Amino acid sequence: MQVETLILGAGAAGLMCAAHSGPGVLVVDHAKSPGEKIRISGGGRCNFTNLHTCPENFLSGNPHFCKSALGRYTQWDFLDLVSRHGIAWHEKTLGQLFCDESAKQIVAMLLAEAAGAELWLQTDVGAIDHDGARFSVILERDGRPTTVLARNLVVATGGKSIPKMGATGLAYRIAERFGLGVTETRPALVPLTFSGPVLERLKPLAGLSVDAEVTCNGVAFREGLLFTHRGLSGPAILQISSFWREGDPICVDLVPGVELVAALRSRRQSGGRIALATALSEYMPTRLAQVVAEGSGLRGNLADQNDGAVRELSARATGWDLLPSGSEGYRTAEVTLGGVATDGLSSSTMEARAVPGLYFIGECVDVTGWLGGYNFQWAWSSGWAAGAAIAARSQ
Ligand SMILES: Cc1cc2nc3c(=O)[nH]c(=O)nc-3n(C[C@H](O)[C@H](O)[C@H](O)COP(=O)(O)OP(=O)(O)OC[C@H]3O[C@@H](n4cnc5c(N)ncnc54)[C@H](O)[C@@H]3O)c2cc1C
Repeated sequence: MQVETLILGAGAAGLMCAAHSGPGVLVVDHAKSPGEKIRISGGGRCNFTNLHTCPENFLSGNPHFCKSALGRYTQWDFLDLVSRHGIAWHEKTLGQLFCDESAKQIVAMLLAEAAGAELWLQTDVGAIDHDGARFSVILERDGRPTTVLARNLVVATGGKSIPKMGATGLAYRIAERFGLGVTETRPALVPLTFSGPVLERLKPLAGLSVDAEVTCNGVAFREGLLFTHRGLSGPAILQISSFWREGDPICVDLVPGVELVAALRSRRQSGGRIALATALSEYMPTRLAQVVAEGSGLRGNLADQNDGAVRELSARATGWDLLPSGSEGYRTAEVTLGGVATDGLSSSTMEARAVPGLYFIGECVDVTGWLGGYNFQWAWSSGWAAGAAIAARSQ
């Protein structure tokens, strides 16, 4: 069987690319349904882009690499597409756009846009070869192998996150097979775990969520923080996990924006005969206030504390240093940090410099967005860039 373009992976990037690659496109995926991660994303409402998308929201060995694709297919282009399909949306917070109804609408929209392409599901990808002009790929469907010859091969099989959902790391193996570099990959946008006495202190707080500022390696995020049975989660922690490395402490400000020393001093003057936890609970949930007050080791009530002790108590709440023991790993990570090295790819087309006709798009590339719709925008932009290049060449 011969096609113009074979796209491996019917996820966000693969479907977007299929919609723009021109005629003769075959998309294959080993999953039962296309766009499974889109379907479950954003709590079933898909945070499909971010109004504030710019290159600064992405981590990569080459921070300039994402500029071209993001600049040529922008968040406004995707929003325009969503609106043309009559999908109602809203901004939740921090520029994050979600469907009003269901993430399934985004999958349906992409399938409609890519209607000209053939889609093979439950198809396994076998050996891949290249004779200089065409790729030959062995595909297995219903137990029967088929060799497909394609002028263009687009790899859109995502990263390693959530193996239960079909993530395989196939893209990295294909990149290596064709001599491209792959940077270190690690789970990102992932909850952090703790052990020993720290976990024992955190465990009773499981289920609590607060607004917090979390800092690690000079980077800070102020968003929600959630205590879990294994450690910490919530947007602030997921964001900082992309910057965290084993052995690094994180610092948590539980009352961002509050001048806590001044506030506690003034409370000490105006009725300080209250427990330390009670004083703190004016600024945070009571259970958390108790843990912070106990952790300070201070005795007596607020009125008994001198200025030094008030500063100490306040520092416990505004600069809580914690040493994570690890992360929840690929089992729950929203994305994979690192991937196919950008120095082997054209930033405007996503084509491998040394292998004409071979493209890598989406999460498998060493471009990782912050939490908040940035990763889907990268999938749309990089998928569009490859598709537009293929379509232009086949005219
Ligand atoms: C729970 C969760 C929630 C998320 N929420 C958001 C969000 O709201 N906003 C946001 O911007 N990002 C979100 N993300 C991240 C986002 O889903 C990814 O960045 C995006 O899906 C990447 O698109 P992709 O096309 O590169 O890869 P994917 O969407 O992962 O698609 C890859 C496709 O390749 C297929 N595949 C993999 N290996 C093989 C193989 N060996 N053979 C055949 N097929 C294969 C897979 O079945 C899959 O269909 C979320 C991720 C998760 C896990």
